[in-house]
Amino acid sequence: MKLPPRVGLFWDLDNKPPNSIPPYEVANKLRIAASSFGVVRHMIAYANSHTFSHVPLAVQERKKQRELLNRLENKGVIKPNEPYLCRVCGRKFHTNEKLVNHFKQLHEREHAKRVNQIESARGSRRVKLVAKYSMKMEKYKKAARAVLTPKVGYGLADELKRAGFWVQTVLDKPQAADRALKSHMVDMMDHRRIECLVLVSDDSDFINVIKEAKLRCLKTVVIGDTPDGELKRTANAAFSWVEILMGKAKKEAVSVVENWKDRDILNKLEWTYNPDVDIKKLDPDNMVTEDSEDENIEDICDEVDDAYKDDGGAWWELDSDDVDKNNQPHKASILSVTR
Ligand SMILES: [Zn+2]
Repeated sequence: MKLPPRVGLFWDLDNKPPNSIPPYEVANKLRIAASSFGVVRHMIAYANSHTFSHVPLAVQERKKQRELLNRLENKGVIKPNEPYLCRVCGRKFHTNEKLVNHFKQLHEREHAKRVNQIESARGSRRVKLVAKYSMKMEKYKKAARAVLTPKVGYGLADELKRAGFWVQTVLDKPQAADRALKSHMVDMMDHRRIECLVLVSDDSDFINVIKEAKLRCLKTVVIGDTPDGELKRTANAAFSWVEILMGKAKKEAVSVVENWKDRDILNKLEWTYNPDVDIKKLDPDNMVTEDSEDENIEDICDEVDDAYKDDGGAWWELDSDDVDKNNQPHKASILSVTR
């Protein structure tokens, strides 16, 4: 029996930030939607540091108010009705500032130690540590959100990590996140880690990667706002970002997968690349669209596979805008499809 398809979820945060919706919630909704297409194995988010350091207005206002209250409390001008309670250890404090200091000096350090221990452990030891600390860490995280005002980006990166995303910041250069995300997607394809690619973006710069994924017989899904953009039309399936946020995408995704099943794709391909499969029977709408009529899709997939190996196929052209040639000369050749 074949395993369910492995899904890679790639999030272009610069293009699709969570904005006013809690990032943890958005991340979960994305994961749930993506899980309709298979087992979500990789969740990857890229953004430039500006996106991560952006603090929404509402958070700024709250921070200002808190600072004002702190000043008044410290001077003894005002007193809280009830003392501030540390939700980790239960100690009480008369001013918010004292609570925050206590929290940072004691609990933040304890938490950092646990995280370090877990991160440096491997295998069964790691599993044991995670189990051992899970209650404490959950408690800390809940308390920390109430006590600590996030220093940057209202904890965007931390919240996404908490939801299981691998989060990467890139330099504040135009297109830096795009390029990093593209090369990560191609890397995943090169190592055959995924059979389905879900991309969260409206940026038409990703069209070539989607085309590339389809050539390699991956399923492609695009999530974005543009109702009928070229990027969405290129992919096998498309969802609106709003639908995801409203939690509707799961339902939609199920019907898409059913549709794919109807077309016999799951049965024939089971979403994995297999050149022996008779792909001719598949609906051409869902496959690579080629203008030449004398080649069938099976041949195309074989040829594509060969082209990767010798890197000399006439189908590919260097696209210097997309990839750092010095580091990844091989990948550069497969990013742009010239046909
Ligand atoms: Zn405490």
